[in-house]
Amino acid sequence: MTTTVAPNRIHIKVGDKCEVLDLYPGCTHEDVRAILCSAADMVDADKDSLIKLTKPDGTIVPVSPFLPGNTDKEPYTLQVQYRSRGSPNGAGGGGGGAASPTKIGYLEAKLNDISKALEPLREMQSFREQIVSFQKRLESAEKQISMANLPETKVIPKAIKRISKIDPIFAHQPKYVFTDETVAYLKQPSFNNWQWEENEMTALMEHMFTELGLVDKFKMELPTLKRFLCVVKDNYNHNPFHNFRHCFCVTQMFYGMLHEADLVSKLEPIDLLVGLISCIIHDIDHPGFNNAYQVNAKTELAIIYNDQSPLENHHCAVGFTILRNNDCNIFKNLSDKDYEHVRKGIIRCVLSTDLTKHGEIMTKFKAVSENFNFADVEHKAQLLVMMVKCADISNEARPADVAEPWLDCLLEEYFAQSDREKAEGLPVAPFMDRDKVTKPGAQVGFIQFVMIPLFENLARVLPQLEGNVLPQIRKSLAYYQDLQQKMTGK
Ligand SMILES: [Zn+2]
Repeated sequence: MTTTVAPNRIHIKVGDKCEVLDLYPGCTHEDVRAILCSAADMVDADKDSLIKLTKPDGTIVPVSPFLPGNTDKEPYTLQVQYRSRGSPNGAGGGGGGAASPTKIGYLEAKLNDISKALEPLREMQSFREQIVSFQKRLESAEKQISMANLPETKVIPKAIKRISKIDPIFAHQPKYVFTDETVAYLKQPSFNNWQWEENEMTALMEHMFTELGLVDKFKMELPTLKRFLCVVKDNYNHNPFHNFRHCFCVTQMFYGMLHEADLVSKLEPIDLLVGLISCIIHDIDHPGFNNAYQVNAKTELAIIYNDQSPLENHHCAVGFTILRNNDCNIFKNLSDKDYEHVRKGIIRCVLSTDLTKHGEIMTKFKAVSENFNFADVEHKAQLLVMMVKCADISNEARPADVAEPWLDCLLEEYFAQSDREKAEGLPVAPFMDRDKVTKPGAQVGFIQFVMIPLFENLARVLPQLEGNVLPQIRKSLAYYQDLQQKMTGK
């Protein structure tokens, strides 16, 4: 009887191919290794080569003649490696040489596997880079938003404003025709400025030049005068107080005082020209923040003018920049001597509107007023300085219904400044602080100690001011004193 012994059937996987091996009883360890190497196409593997068999669950199976049989569903994975040459197989490796095409293929496949394995990492890296980039953009956006929320800081227009192109259309605008009543009213210090639009105010100013005889005397071309006034208007900022309407009020008060005190006959036309132009340009391009702010905040204007009346210097510079433009140059027919006189006089008047110069100007004028002489050039220059100063602070010389809205405008501008000073950690003047100021409190001291002494000083030379102007100022003082008493009970 012949007994047949069934072989032990082994299923293995080498690379991506499957092999079936039959191990017969009696085969040796070497036989098994040889068979496995053969399955891996590595017939030249020697005894030092590593042969590794693993179950699908990763368990290593010892290579021996007693390998447990398995099924094709759960094949062992075979890997053969030349120990001495250090080259793994798994996908086989026929020639055993380091650069054999099979090995290169294997290496490429392995690199692909590694590359694939790294794919999520790469994606993660890219994702991380995107996050960093997004964070940067977010930070930048937050910075911009926080900057936008800050009050506009230290943004002062260029010291010398560029003059916008002058439209020749101004020259053909219809001339406003004012009634006799309006023309007469314009000469009065009680004139109500609130009834007029900006273009009407420029036309009223143009009328003043004509009425005072300046257009004829200095051979001004009307289109040039119109353009000059329009460009001036456009270069006043829309501040609550220091705006074109304030410019008009100051000019009109100066004009009113000329008539009130009958100065048209006592002064030369060139003096009238100095005074009128000084008033017109005296606050041009005012930024809405006073000299103290300019200096404390170290603004461009403070730097340019070395902290010396930066605003007043700026107003002068802007005014003369406009006048230098041929289309606006109402001085173009003046002789060099007259131009020099006018320029000097205007600069003096405009710089004198800096209230820190108040005491010095008052003292000088008091001395001059003792023996004032209308033929004396220096006396007249000082008179013009005083008149422009008075006109500049003359709101309370007008009826209460005209004057009071100006106080609200002034306080609005002051409070905007003090709010910004607080935000920027700069010194705050108590008279500008919304937490400390009351309307009567603001006016009583100012009218009593600045305005009345100033107008009284001027009235030493122009006694006509005692007729209408000073009584109105004293009435305003009484009104605010009464209001203060009611508010404080004192
Ligand atoms: Zn002013």
